[in-house]
Amino acid sequence: MNQATPEQGNLETYKLIVESMKSYAVFALDKEGVIQTWNAGAQKIFYYRPDEIIGRSCNILYTPEDIAACVPEAELKDALIYGKGVNERFHVKKDRGRIWGSGLVFPLYNDKREHVGFTKVMQKISEEEQAQANLREERSLAQTWVSTFNEIVVILNQEMKVVNATAAFRSFFMLDKRPIEGANLFELMPGAFNTAQLESFVDAALKANNFHSSVEITFVHPVSGLRTLLIKPRRIYQPPNILFSLEFIDQTEQQSIMQEKDVFISVASHEIRTPISVIKAYAQILVRELKEAKPIVQSAVLKINEQINSMNLLINALLDTSKLTTGKLILEPEIFNLSTLVQEIAEGFRLTQTTHTIEIRKDIDSLVFADKPRTGTVITNLLSNAIKYSPGANHVVIEIEHISDRVRVGVQDFGLGIPEAEQGSLFQRFGRTESVRQSKIPGTGLGLHLASEIIKLQSGEINFQTEDGKGSTFYFTLPLY
Ligand code: ADP
Repeated sequence: MNQATPEQGNLETYKLIVESMKSYAVFALDKEGVIQTWNAGAQKIFYYRPDEIIGRSCNILYTPEDIAACVPEAELKDALIYGKGVNERFHVKKDRGRIWGSGLVFPLYNDKREHVGFTKVMQKISEEEQAQANLREERSLAQTWVSTFNEIVVILNQEMKVVNATAAFRSFFMLDKRPIEGANLFELMPGAFNTAQLESFVDAALKANNFHSSVEITFVHPVSGLRTLLIKPRRIYQPPNILFSLEFIDQTEQQSIMQEKDVFISVASHEIRTPISVIKAYAQILVRELKEAKPIVQSAVLKINEQINSMNLLINALLDTSKLTTGKLILEPEIFNLSTLVQEIAEGFRLTQTTHTIEIRKDIDSLVFADKPRTGTVITNLLSNAIKYSPGANHVVIEIEHISDRVRVGVQDFGLGIPEAEQGSLFQRFGRTESVRQSKIPGTGLGLHLASEIIKLQSGEINFQTEDGKGSTFYFTLPLY
């Protein structure tokens, strides 16, 4: 190719030759790698017209990985040092598709032997060569991916053929002794595996191009028996072919531990409930009978009563939470006035705490058909949080309003607020913000979880607005009766 470079002859002849070459991309770059000329072959291979690409950096033709690894600069540097550089690698076309380009790059000199730029020559390769290059790239990517995992992971292409798999995958599915690359995953899986369920899950993920959800599948392992597997897909982006991995997480042990924990919580709280009720009854007798006792005795008995009440609340929350996870929480709806319930609960708080005043705004009759004690638990939780998490304030506002066919109860405080980064987990079981965890404010992180489940079970919504350091409004809605 280099017999026609400008250094050796007529520039016009060079241009004509270059122009007539249809199956070679030939283009010149200046010293900085900016494209100066662009022949018909280059247009055919890369789809760019000369007016679209002349004046742009040649980096546009390289893959992001190569740009990050400074390959374009290295190629030109090699050409300068050794008289030519090799450019055998994936390049990127105008439609962002990749092609395997194979060719050379030469330095260009003017009449005075001064370096003025470079010429690149690239051959258009056949589809077969392209497919092979894709496959090579695919294999090496899958190999790198697999070698970073100890977990049960398999890498697949769009046709569900195995490209690679970890040793843990082979051993878990007992595929050690046979070659699995190129085989269809569903044909490989042991008979007891519900391949139809996995197939429809993967199909949906591929179609929607959404690899963020996971699926749980139970499966009878030939040796270890019934297992629960959580299957997580992950996309490994590799145009032109899509590669993705499936990770199989064996949750059997974890699940049985969780189930045992739920049973334990349920049994323990149930058993504690009876003695607590008895203590509560006796404590109430004491409050009544000790009216004439010394103030110190009276206040001690009142404190015992208060503590029993909060213990009762905690036990009920624990019981309801474990019922929720086992699907045994049964609501008992009745018709009642939600505003009256809010008034009663607020009154209770006014009697038992002295730090905050509680203002009720826009108090309007609001008949609902809901589980009254449990809706009361929700209001109690929001109100006690509003007081608990605003230690520096002295005021809480409850607002009741009707929005079309719903009643909305909002509890506003002027306290800590919730930092944005921590707002995502409050309605989860045991969800507490980090700052609160480190503070001395007591709590379990169960209240909001339970509140949100109770409200959702009653066709309502629960949410909050908050500003870090300024306060929060937690609100819920329920359908009006
Ligand atoms: P608990 O108060 O027992 O920790 P909750 O489930 O009621 O549990 O609340 C979960 C978490 O949400 C709290 O630990 C706290 O971090 C945050 N939170 C709830 N209410 C408020 C509020 N009014 N202001 C600031 N943070 C709050």
